[in-house]
Amino acid sequence: MKSLLLGFILALNLIPAPVEFKPSEGTSTVDNVVVRKHSFGFRKAVRDLPEFARKEAYRLTIGPRKVVVEARTDEGVFRARKTIEQLQALGEVPCGVIFDYPRFRHRGLMIDESRTFKGAQFLKKQMDAMALLKFNILHLHLDDSAGWRIESETYPDLTAKGAFRIGAHYMEWEKSGYKYSTQDDPEAYGGYYTKDELRDLVAYAAERYITIIPEIEMPGHSLEVTSAYPGTSCTLEDGTPFKGAWDVCPGSEETYKLLESVLTEVMEIFPSHYIHIGGDEASMAVWPKCIKCRERMRQEGYTEVSQLQGYLVRRIEAFVRAHGRSIIGWDEILETGVPQSAVIQSWRGISGGIKANAAGHKVVMSPNSHLYFDYYQDLIRKEPRAWGELTSLRHVYSYEPVAPGMDETLVLGLQANLWCEWIPTVEHAEYMLWPRGFAVAEIGWSPRREKDPLEFRDRADALRHVLMDMGYNTFDLDTESELARSGYRTFDAFERAKKQNN
Ligand SMILES: [Zn+2]
Repeated sequence: MKSLLLGFILALNLIPAPVEFKPSEGTSTVDNVVVRKHSFGFRKAVRDLPEFARKEAYRLTIGPRKVVVEARTDEGVFRARKTIEQLQALGEVPCGVIFDYPRFRHRGLMIDESRTFKGAQFLKKQMDAMALLKFNILHLHLDDSAGWRIESETYPDLTAKGAFRIGAHYMEWEKSGYKYSTQDDPEAYGGYYTKDELRDLVAYAAERYITIIPEIEMPGHSLEVTSAYPGTSCTLEDGTPFKGAWDVCPGSEETYKLLESVLTEVMEIFPSHYIHIGGDEASMAVWPKCIKCRERMRQEGYTEVSQLQGYLVRRIEAFVRAHGRSIIGWDEILETGVPQSAVIQSWRGISGGIKANAAGHKVVMSPNSHLYFDYYQDLIRKEPRAWGELTSLRHVYSYEPVAPGMDETLVLGLQANLWCEWIPTVEHAEYMLWPRGFAVAEIGWSPRREKDPLEFRDRADALRHVLMDMGYNTFDLDTESELARSGYRTFDAFERAKKQNN
């Protein structure tokens, strides 16, 4: 049985559900919004919260005509205004008192701009939805083999030779044999963000209290870098650069010159404390054949080529730290040694996050078991081609970022990732993001409570219609299969459960 208080909170229909709601009679016309930033009572109410939560906390006292917003910061006022805006969009603003603050400090979405270049208008539109849902992190995957998407003044060939390709769909590009192109080629697909566009996006995000975390991927997923600048590729016995390397060469000084130069440009554009340096899925295939990699191994006394990845990550980490920032990397970077100031983003399930947490690292949880939005959200036969296992709204909603035994104070939060190998258009990207993103917003903000997936689904459906009215292309919950709705991931499990219930 749900407690009476929780019943009131959920009756509000808000996503994320607030911490507290005490209803009173009637609804509000919200004619008059009064902001109080120095309320003693409110300061007392948030006194014991962690600093990040205190910063975003707010209290709304909603009367028939007047709404009083209490918060310590402009960010808290903004969160409160988004609550009112969402209630208005859902149809009515009930009178009462809402007291609210976030559970986690990192509530994010990652968008892959490399496999499909989506452009500033798309990102702004998604940030509008994110702000309505109290997200505060947009992680941009700005480069990968399929395209370099950020202007560099110091290495202009990254865009001139690496931002355009043959094949608008990632899979067509794969079929082309990973052919790059140039902007003037009529068959070229691609693009990149200019520095001015990125600064504009950073400002747009800041107005919504969203931090954009830029990712520059290394040493793997870097075919576009080694193609544009062969000095960053491995070197064969005869002194020639290896053609078609997916990893940059951790033995070559050219690699560090390029990466550090690009990261300096990135840090000039993005004020984010965290800079993501990728670190996943380096193939390391060419490293054993490379004279520079072998020389680096000899100098460092390494016995395994994988140690070269650790060398590169630590060197880049020190560079970023010297600029007053910190790195985030995918969980592979934990395996080859990295300083404790590095944040580990767990994507290969939750095990990397658990190990990193036990070793004292801060972690962001993005397990592909629950938070990969390029995975199917319903049955393969009714959905556009995707990856992975069935990752329905209900399945996403079932996720809890703090696994048993983890130190919650080191769990920064959670993030869903939208990789775009099978997502060729902006409409399709939106379709994969919403409403599953609602579940991430709620898990990231609302207190840990017993979850009722059917109740959440009702709220998600209401908010989905709000987004549709605003022009978003969302997944249609009305056509969701019984299997996905029940939260099963396979037919076998679904059929077994049905038999047991009969
Ligand atoms: Zn090499």
